[in-house]
Amino acid sequence: MGGPSKELTVPRRRPRRCVGCGGEFARGGLIRVVRSPEGAVMINAGAKTPGRGAYVCMNRGCVAMARKKNALARALKTAVGPEIYDGLEELCVEGTG
Ligand SMILES: [Zn+2]
Repeated sequence: MGGPSKELTVPRRRPRRCVGCGGEFARGGLIRVVRSPEGAVMINAGAKTPGRGAYVCMNRGCVAMARKKNALARALKTAVGPEIYDGLEELCVEGTG
């Protein structure tokens, strides 16, 4: 089969990977962080927000790990301020992890 390889119909099967623990999850339980084309980093900005996205589990352990590793900055290839991690922690369910 030598069909054209530049089709834009890429199947969206990639699992979401938590930048904290590195675990992969099909869906649910993850908080989305997106970097807009302008370079602004936003939490859970909605599925339609364009830009590079990263995910972290909705628990404080993973947020803490991500913060320690500066994992969001690496994943998004931009600086991620502490307020983003603070915001993520606020979204975490109390007592989990
Ligand atoms: Zn995780």
